[in-house]
Amino acid sequence: MAEIEKVLIIGSGPAGYTAAIYAARSGLKPLLISGLEPGGQLMITTEVENFPGFENPVQGPWLMEQMKNQALSFGTKIHNDRVVKVEFNNYPFQVITEKNSQISSYSVIISTGAKAKWLNIPGEENFMGFGISACATCDGFFFKNKDVAVIGGGNTAVEEALYLANLCKKVTLIHRRNQLRAEKILQDRLFQKKNVRILWNSVVNEFIGSDKPKTLEKLLISSGKKSSELKVDGAFVAIGHSPSTEIFKNSLNMDSEGYIHTENKSTKTSIDGIFAAGDVTDKIYRQAVTAAGMGCMGALEVEEFLSKKSII
Ligand code: NDP
Repeated sequence: MAEIEKVLIIGSGPAGYTAAIYAARSGLKPLLISGLEPGGQLMITTEVENFPGFENPVQGPWLMEQMKNQALSFGTKIHNDRVVKVEFNNYPFQVITEKNSQISSYSVIISTGAKAKWLNIPGEENFMGFGISACATCDGFFFKNKDVAVIGGGNTAVEEALYLANLCKKVTLIHRRNQLRAEKILQDRLFQKKNVRILWNSVVNEFIGSDKPKTLEKLLISSGKKSSELKVDGAFVAIGHSPSTEIFKNSLNMDSEGYIHTENKSTKTSIDGIFAAGDVTDKIYRQAVTAAGMGCMGALEVEEFLSKKSII
């Protein structure tokens, strides 16, 4: 009979690897299923300056490689595979992967993360990480005293614009309607900023720049039948995030946007023994360091759960 895992970790961002490091150090020999794009959102970031422990900037992919190696060094088993189906009504829990493995586990930590939504327009993929970002807290500093644009009209867009207004020379918020979706208190704060202007009823159609060195230079914008160009050093796409929770939809309680519900100050989900950590449950902070913190919490809660069940 196939071995039953003590803890299965789904996802390989900062939350998943941190959970693995803690669980492995506790002797739980975790199995981590990395997903098909291992490393999560930090793999598409260039320099990271706000993850504690490094005086000088580090590269996002390098940081994730370090986390992976740290998890491996304590005995984590890592499978480069993707979970396609879960059976959380049975115990031990069962999951099925794309490579057709059937895995049983006494506990599960879900850390499948979230993905920024993108505009999917010409130039976007090319200049991603070279002027285009989806996270002002992560990348805003690189545009200190420069001109940037933020695209979107929700809380994220306005918070990003406010954050950037304190750093950058000029911020242009580009919104497709004539009214923001963001909370009024945030809007009021934004309207008071002298270096922020808003382009209403405007849509970005293309990102344009030079290829040597790769740098974003301007945006092609349309407003009704009028077209214009906006020179920028950086552009922040803030049109929302979607959590990667499709496969858990019929099993776990989630909010209307698909973020997994967890108990207050805990990673416990609506099923005893299933835990969720990182961006898959957090739409407010969304930082590598907060995800890592939640991964640690998940592993400690798994240990408590397994011990109460006398599995360890
Ligand atoms: P939202 O879904 O709230 O807003 C997305 C914005 O992007 C909308 O203004 C939308 O326009 C615009 N948009 C969507 N698709 C496109 C597109 N293809 N082209 C141009 N514009 C587009 O996402 P947020 O990330 O802002 O927020 C997600 C959730 O997280 C919300 O519930 C929010 O309240 C919450 N949040 C809370 C915070 C806090 O409490 N401090 C901070 C950040 C987020 P339109 O308005 O026309 O639909």
